[in-house]
Amino acid sequence: MSKRRPSVGGNWKMNGRIASVSDLAGAVADAAPVDVDVAVFPAFLHLPPVAAALAGSHVKLGAQDVYPEEDGAYTGEVSTGMLKDLGVGVVLVGHSERRHVIGEPDELLNRKAHAVLEAGLELMFCVGETESQRRSGRTDAVNGAQLDHGLEDLDEKALDRVTIAYEPVWAIGTGLTASADDAQNAHAHIRGVLGNLFSPPVADRVRILYGGSVKPGNAAELFAGADVDGGLIGGASLEADAFNAIVGHAMGS
Ligand code: PEP
Repeated sequence: MSKRRPSVGGNWKMNGRIASVSDLAGAVADAAPVDVDVAVFPAFLHLPPVAAALAGSHVKLGAQDVYPEEDGAYTGEVSTGMLKDLGVGVVLVGHSERRHVIGEPDELLNRKAHAVLEAGLELMFCVGETESQRRSGRTDAVNGAQLDHGLEDLDEKALDRVTIAYEPVWAIGTGLTASADDAQNAHAHIRGVLGNLFSPPVADRVRILYGGSVKPGNAAELFAGADVDGGLIGGASLEADAFNAIVGHAMGS
């Protein structure tokens, strides 16, 4: 059982239309308990209607990505200032689809992490190993390297606005999950890395979420580990009842 305040995010990826994401956001807002930090991450274009549907609730509006420059000739990109204008409070950086489908390198992810924190936003920074890295016993080494590079030179004081999402790539959208023990071990290692990069008291405060095929039926077991502070949810976050049930499992986990 974690001693930190639980946190659950819903990553909606490139899904939905204005009407469906507005309904989904409303249903999440209506059910969100006050003792869990809940955030949803719609596509950029859906931020305004989702912000409207969340108005008056304590569910945070999240963005799935950002570009680390404020304005200028960066066709197709979106800045922290634009996100703040729309009421975004938290930004995902380093999601496995950004790393492995789009091909974003560690150096760019580090610039994004700096931009998010310098803008006063919260950062949800994702790490995780591929299946072949896991099979060759490199899970901890990969997570450690992604944190070393991705969080390089961040101000320790800003770490209170950082959450880490451990998402094994082979578990995302596949129906496979890490065992509860494997998740706890990976999280404990990540906390140790944060302790070395910053300080043990800082590492002790950072929330580390598990992501990868979390469903209502496996959430309680996955969230039970002492270093597991909630989850980042993809597929199951597109269905309000499933997502709300997962949020319920994070309470008191
Ligand atoms: C994700 O994309 O962050 C994720 C965890 O997806 P899923 O829950 O569908 O595996």
